[in-house]
Amino acid sequence: MTTLKCRHCGNNAVINMRHSKLALCESHYIEWFHRQTEKVIKKYNMISHSDRILLAVSGGKDSLSLWYILTELGYKVDGLYINLGITEDDYSLKSQSCIEEFVNKWELNLIVYNIQNEIGYSLIDISQSTKRGAGRPCSVCGLIKRHEKNQISDEQNFNVLATGHNLDDEVATLFSNTLTWSIPMISNQSPVLEATDGFVRKVKPLFRFYERETTAYAIIQNIQYIYEECPFSKGSKSIQYKHIMNDLESKQPGTKINYFTSFQNAQKKGVFQNNDQISDRYKNKCKSCGQPTTAPDLCAYCRMIESLK
Ligand code: SF4
Ligand code: ZN
Repeated sequence: MTTLKCRHCGNNAVINMRHSKLALCESHYIEWFHRQTEKVIKKYNMISHSDRILLAVSGGKDSLSLWYILTELGYKVDGLYINLGITEDDYSLKSQSCIEEFVNKWELNLIVYNIQNEIGYSLIDISQSTKRGAGRPCSVCGLIKRHEKNQISDEQNFNVLATGHNLDDEVATLFSNTLTWSIPMISNQSPVLEATDGFVRKVKPLFRFYERETTAYAIIQNIQYIYEECPFSKGSKSIQYKHIMNDLESKQPGTKINYFTSFQNAQKKGVFQNNDQISDRYKNKCKSCGQPTTAPDLCAYCRMIESLK
């Protein structure tokens, strides 16, 4: 078998990106990855060097890689870790210790929000005692994370919230929403969501990288991340959709990026016109926490917390 050579220097390649017919050695891959990230940030006007950026970190390869790159590129980024108290496989413990190791090594600022300390219950307690959980904690988890990310950004004057979503995540979400033709969700899917009254600006600078590309980046940069997925993701629909997309991609390289780029082009042409913008529906302010809500009094998060009392 012939060893693939780097397109730029002819040294042995460490990665071959079949969808773009590009093979690169370690140092040219890192250069390429940083250049692509900056290009996306500029093209979508995502962030500037004067922004105060809060990055949601999970301890996984994507969020830690994004923190590393943004810091290298000179952006001011603090991390937020929401500890959900998941004891299965010591998941929360292991995730937090990966993040703390990273933060200590690079002297970064980390905000830890521990739901057991703040709310008095773990994710499992909440999902077992509320209707919303119904045995699966993901819906409760999503609600807590959304609420806390927005609340902490607002209280601590961050003007941008960044997340490490990669192309595989975006494609799985799009696929899921097209299966149900959920037009409000489809039309709101974007690498940048502008701030609206009560919602901070949200950006996803890694959205054009395949998952194997962010993995390669983290390994080459020697970033110690948690390899295990959350134990509750086993058998989830998003994992199933990722498997389907991986299968298509292996038969036809470029499927994922073409699917997502075609979606963005259609979105630009107004194909997914939506008269029911999610931000327009959140017209009221929660009487307890002050966050935007569709409900007349308490937001879904505060209602859930009330029901625990
Ligand atoms: Fe939360 Fe884990 Fe479910 Fe993801 S898989 S939404 S981290 S509980
Ligand atoms: Zn509220």
